[in-house]
Amino acid sequence: MVDGRKKLIKSSVRQSIAKLMGEAEAARAAGRPERARRYAKMIMDLVRKHKVRLTEEQKRGFCRKCFTWWVPGDTVKLAFDKRHNVIRMKCAKCGYTRRL
Ligand SMILES: [Zn+2]
Repeated sequence: MVDGRKKLIKSSVRQSIAKLMGEAEAARAAGRPERARRYAKMIMDLVRKHKVRLTEEQKRGFCRKCFTWWVPGDTVKLAFDKRHNVIRMKCAKCGYTRRL
């Protein structure tokens, strides 16, 4: 019973995250980066609180360190990491990098 309830909560949390991603993207498109940032922070709060996983696509949407909404070529740059032979995404705001 407990497991079933947990699953239900997680699926509604995932729905909330998807909704917040949409809101953040809309805010960013409207030229409101600070607003997008607040949504990103809310998403990470949900992730931590409920221990849900973001999809790869969602993880690429924003910086999980400073919550800047990532726009390729603007707030996020792609950098080739020669040492590990991988492409990394680098946040233009705080310098946080993650593997692509
Ligand atoms: Zn950042």
